[in-house]
Amino acid sequence: MNDDADLKLLPGLSEKLHNIPVRPCFALMLAFAEPLSTIPVKGFSIKNSKILSSAYCDSSKPDRSTTSERWVLHSTAEYAENIIAQTGLKKPSDATLNKVAEELFQEFQSTEANISQPFFKRAHRWGSAFPDASIAQEEKCVWDRSKRLAICGDFCVSPNVEGAIDSGFAAALRLKDISASSL
Ligand SMILES: Cc1cc2nc3c(=O)[nH]c(=O)nc-3n(C[C@H](O)[C@H](O)[C@H](O)COP(=O)(O)OP(=O)(O)OC[C@H]3O[C@@H](n4cnc5c(N)ncnc54)[C@H](O)[C@@H]3O)c2cc1C
Repeated sequence: MNDDADLKLLPGLSEKLHNIPVRPCFALMLAFAEPLSTIPVKGFSIKNSKILSSAYCDSSKPDRSTTSERWVLHSTAEYAENIIAQTGLKKPSDATLNKVAEELFQEFQSTEANISQPFFKRAHRWGSAFPDASIAQEEKCVWDRSKRLAICGDFCVSPNVEGAIDSGFAAALRLKDISASSL
């Protein structure tokens, strides 16, 4: 949450919610006409790379089209910070995104043998991609009984969908308890 006007209404919670650190990331979508049969898994982390942190086969997720095989690569935060330091926070130019796409793809190729050329390749900058802190590891959400308010999100638990869902459930339970106790 970055909206100062909203936070002023929540003095008790604003300290926790203000300035949650975030990590930037460049993501690269690749689409291949044929499956990358040399890769035996559908997602993996990349250690010891200054450029790439992970790769996921998006088309292997439930209910995705399988007419092509699509992979999403994530840059390291350090790589993204370095590019942002060079280009500033304005919308990245096509030249910058093309350069990033090429660098991430080359790094992907160097991690695995026989990666063919994709027919689609596009990079996207996520300036605040992932929270870099989990502010409510135990309670999984932040809440204020007097205001009958619970706030949830991945920044409470862990920087992924699982963390967001966990936090959402915790917030729903809090609100249920608060409503029940005020009957
Ligand atoms: C490129 C990328 C790829 C990812 N891939 C994966 C993956 O494969 N698997 C995985 O588990 N996780 C993945 N994640 C992480 C995952 O997307 C997040 O952890 C998850 O979406 C967090 O859910 P959330 O509900 O906490 O926040 P969000 O999904 O960010 O939702 C917050 C919502 O609040 C809205 N909002 C913000 N401020 C206000 C305001 N003031 N008023 C009203 N609305 C507001 C926003 O517009 C947004 O719709 C990825 C993240 C990125 C950046």
